[in-house]
Amino acid sequence: MVDDSPRPADESPTREQLEAWDRELVWHAFTQMTEHQPFIIQRAEGCTLYDLEGRAYLDGVSSLWCNVHGHRHPTIDAAIRAQLDQVAHVTSLGMAHPTTIKLARRLVDLAPAGLGHVFFSDSGATAVEVALKMAFQFWQQCEQPQPKKTKYLAFENAYHGDTLGSVSVGGVPRFHEMFRPLLFEVLRLPSPTMYRLPTNVTRENACEYFLNLVAQVLEHQHAEIAAVIVEPLMQCAAGMILHPPGFLRGLRELTRQHDVLLIADEVAVGMGRTGRMFACQQEDVQPDLLCLAKGITGGYLPLAATLATDRIWQAFLGTYSSSRTFFHGHTYGGNPLGAAAALATLDVFEQEQTLANMPAKIARLQEYLARIALHPNVGDVRQLGLIAGIELVRDRVTQEPFPWGERRGQRVCNHALTRGVWLRPLGNVVVMMPPLNIKLEELDRICLAVEEGIEVATR
Ligand code: PMP
Repeated sequence: MVDDSPRPADESPTREQLEAWDRELVWHAFTQMTEHQPFIIQRAEGCTLYDLEGRAYLDGVSSLWCNVHGHRHPTIDAAIRAQLDQVAHVTSLGMAHPTTIKLARRLVDLAPAGLGHVFFSDSGATAVEVALKMAFQFWQQCEQPQPKKTKYLAFENAYHGDTLGSVSVGGVPRFHEMFRPLLFEVLRLPSPTMYRLPTNVTRENACEYFLNLVAQVLEHQHAEIAAVIVEPLMQCAAGMILHPPGFLRGLRELTRQHDVLLIADEVAVGMGRTGRMFACQQEDVQPDLLCLAKGITGGYLPLAATLATDRIWQAFLGTYSSSRTFFHGHTYGGNPLGAAAALATLDVFEQEQTLANMPAKIARLQEYLARIALHPNVGDVRQLGLIAGIELVRDRVTQEPFPWGERRGQRVCNHALTRGVWLRPLGNVVVMMPPLNIKLEELDRICLAVEEGIEVATR
């Protein structure tokens, strides 16, 4: 039981009290609370987190994939403070704010060509909901309406967020199956993976194989499909599943050919993570809708954006009574504090030449992964820019996974913590996703902790 006796306002809780309350009162995301181990961070600086006792830990996953420039970055801190001196929040229903308008300008200038309009919301899931609803409504009211285009095509092992629309298009059984009765139906194709391929499919012909599956569905059902939704290049939350090179470009060609919209969910892979500002740019792809969140504010504040093409935007123009309006919104969509953090995040990309400095780090990560790949319990290593997924298996030859309950990935991370590195796995997949401004020496420490952790956790 929690000690709930009244406390004088000036009395700071002890570490033990904080931990007890964290166990009993705070319901943590994606966490089995019976096993929850409080890990309380008091402050952070650069790529380092500090706990209540002042112990330091390298943030090996950018506080869940979002603090692209690390923590307490002076430029972002200052921008938020300056915005606070102006106004913290104005609604986007009938009002606007210069910071939010400027952010839209910057995003449109940076994004793949054709994405000329920005709808702001507050999380990755809402950015996806917006894209799904826009795609649906588009076909109902575009110049030559196609009201039968109401379905979505999505992939197994997709993850697009935890609201019901984004869970509907999601395809990670462990996370999503429970909610199936609540969800709308989606056309589903196998995850375009390069590991555990069907017989007769090799890494070399995987792209062609998976694109053929898409082509067959689009040929037969394009008249009912509003949009295809994809995590470009890599399905992250399902375990950093790397797609065959060329898959995204092929998907774009097929969707264009069959007049089906393409939704690119770059919530995880966008904002520099792959070495380009947007993952779609790696394959020169221009989606119809682009979803951004996480790193957009440098991981500081909840802000998300759904970018749309002019074709989509045009279909929503009309008189108020024509019901062409997009009746969708979130109270904090386009919040000026978040927008200030986002503009400053983009400034830092320029000032620090973040992308130009990435190749050396990507190469260093690759060197470690090449060595790690030789371990007998490493089934696959997958890298995309500054993302690494290391899949631990019981048997490398048969690719037999370790039972989920053995928590091998977590065991690696537990060991890394003793070496001053904080990581969070995805089941049997050990994940590294450090801030993009990590120093090589810090990256070395993370990789070495992982290497050592794998030794310990597979004994
Ligand atoms: N899409 C993708 C590809 C994601 O990785 C995530 C979050 N991991 C989301 C959507 C959901 O974002 P949020 O948690 O901000 O709702």
